Amino acid sequence: MEDTIFGKITRGDIPTEFVYEDEHCVAINDIHPMAPVHVLVIPRKPIPKLADATDEDQALLGHLMLAVGKITRQLGVSEGFRLVVNNGEGGGQTVFHLHLHILAGRDFDEASLARGIQG
Ligand code: AMP
Repeated sequence: MEDTIFGKITRGDIPTEFVYEDEHCVAINDIHPMAPVHVLVIPRKPIPKLADATDEDQALLGHLMLAVGKITRQLGVSEGFRLVVNNGEGGGQTVFHLHLHILAGRDFDEASLARGIQG
């Protein structure tokens, strides 16, 4: 796959503050936050999109879910957050290196979402 901004960030080529990191993934603040807490969890392995993951990635995908629990507890939002994965252009994905969006600190009912981040 082609290298992406997230490949550069996970390798440390672009200095970025990590909210969390371990041997398999890093977490960073989204540059254009859609909620007061908007963190991206990015595996170090550059899988382009979720649908490209294979059986070989089973443990990694589980690891990412457990990392989400750790990160949300660390940030104090484990009792209320939304986890989003955009898959492919049709799913709104813009960076083709798998990542999970953790969104928290706002209401997620449809009316609030329609009003945007201030909602
Ligand atoms: P997606 O649309 O699911 O591919 O999400 C890509 C996300 O990456 C968007 O929410 C962007 O705001 C975010 N993003 C892009 N470049 C950076 C960057 N250098 N640092 C942090 N977040 C970024």
